[in-house]
Amino acid sequence: MLKIELDRDRCEGYGLCEDSAPELFAVDDEGVLELLQETVPTDLREKAKRAVEACPVAALGLADRGDRD
Ligand code: SF4
Repeated sequence: MLKIELDRDRCEGYGLCEDSAPELFAVDDEGVLELLQETVPTDLREKAKRAVEACPVAALGLADRGDRD
């Protein structure tokens, strides 16, 4: 199971992740990023990877937690 990891100390609210995967990320008016889904559905894996790569400050990561949760 793929999970999104967000380092809030790094995130600067650029919203590039939202552009890549609006199903997973939303930046509010104050630049605070909300994870809409922490666990990535199978059909959104590629989008999630693109979002992680798009972040200019490397605030995002993906962790494969196996099938434990
Ligand atoms: S692209 Fe990176 S810095 Fe921008 S909102 Fe997403 S996680 Fe935050």
